[in-house]
Amino acid sequence: MSLIVQKFGGSSVADAESIKRVAKRIVEVRKAGNEVVVVVSAMGDTTDELLDLAKKVVPFPSGRELDMLLTAGERISMALLAMAIRSLGVEARSYTGSQAGMVTDAQHGSARIVEVSPKRVREALDDGAVAIVAGFQGFNRGTGDITTLGRGGSDTTAVALAAALGADVCEIYTDVDGIYTADPRVVSSARKLDRITSEEMLELAATGAKVLYIRAVEYARRHGVTLHVRSSFNNNEGTLVVNPIEGENVEEPIVTGVAADLSEAKITVVGVPDTPGKAAQIFTLIARTNVNIDMIVQNVSSASTGLTDISFTCPKSDAHAAMEALTAQKADIGFASLQHDDQIAKLAVVGAGMRTNAGVSAKLFTALFEAGINIEMISTSEIRISVVTRADTVNDAVRVVHTAFGLDGEVEAVVHGGTGR
Ligand code: ASP
Ligand code: MG
Repeated sequence: MSLIVQKFGGSSVADAESIKRVAKRIVEVRKAGNEVVVVVSAMGDTTDELLDLAKKVVPFPSGRELDMLLTAGERISMALLAMAIRSLGVEARSYTGSQAGMVTDAQHGSARIVEVSPKRVREALDDGAVAIVAGFQGFNRGTGDITTLGRGGSDTTAVALAAALGADVCEIYTDVDGIYTADPRVVSSARKLDRITSEEMLELAATGAKVLYIRAVEYARRHGVTLHVRSSFNNNEGTLVVNPIEGENVEEPIVTGVAADLSEAKITVVGVPDTPGKAAQIFTLIARTNVNIDMIVQNVSSASTGLTDISFTCPKSDAHAAMEALTAQKADIGFASLQHDDQIAKLAVVGAGMRTNAGVSAKLFTALFEAGINIEMISTSEIRISVVTRADTVNDAVRVVHTAFGLDGEVEAVVHGGTGR
């Protein structure tokens, strides 16, 4: 007997038919003798619809009330799914995040899990029931209020429950067959991976891969939870996200996947005096504004002017705050002007085998050059190379790079539905 945590995303429970289909699947696994805990997201695009609704009522809803509103989405799907499972003759009980013991900090909209005490979930399992838990939510002990974990947070709920219950596996059901070498919606020749290391998955998630959320991957890595990403539309094996044992001798692919991210903007601080302390001053200021910086590039300063340009990327939604903070300190820092560009995209190639292979960047840059794509910024880690290019050509860039690294598969990737989440 295994303890299996299964997470179903919004597109897998989008309507009554889908809920009944998912219920059947869960019942099969339960009847095979396994203990089953299910985590659900809100049906289809419910969360977005609730957000739109709130914004029609007030432009800036309070965090507390927004969380109260959004958690309703998961309550709907969990109750409907429990009904569907019971109608198939298997006992099922649904629980909100608080009932399932998901304790978080008090940060509305992006709360972090600080403790998981799934007592009632464990009791349900002991009674032979399937436990259904609302994803993406918890509560704070201090305030006693309901919180949400941030968009896509149901993945994290599932992983946290799997860790707390000592589950054998955490299955993430989605609308594609697993993790691909690139987004199959963009690259039709993308190949499904049988396995990927959590380290590689972290890099891919950080550079735009939407199949798994970065916080869920981090949590799984820290707690040694094995993730299995698979389709809710068939019974095929998906992709295992594994934590390889240190020193284990596995042949690692040089490039495992290509990802793209359109959510960032580029800010350039023009004409910064090239003297010690200026970068410190600029980035201390940005950090105080709580803006998350990603890539940074400083140009070589020209000897005649003693001035340099510093560019960085940050989430589009943070760019305004960063610009305001910098403008307020313009005289003090002594720069000439600011440029803001939100038509950029970040493309990254990731692979654990890069560590021991030269020539990966040469191949990447050559492929981009041959496709006529200009590179504006470059940054690297041990197992990743990222470049900034124009947003309107990034999908072409992903396809070209995917081909250049020999990642194209023979069959067309199947996308079963949904919008990528
Ligand atoms: N329903 C929430 C969202 O759309 C949480 C999730 O899907 O994981 O972000
Ligand atoms: Mg969702």
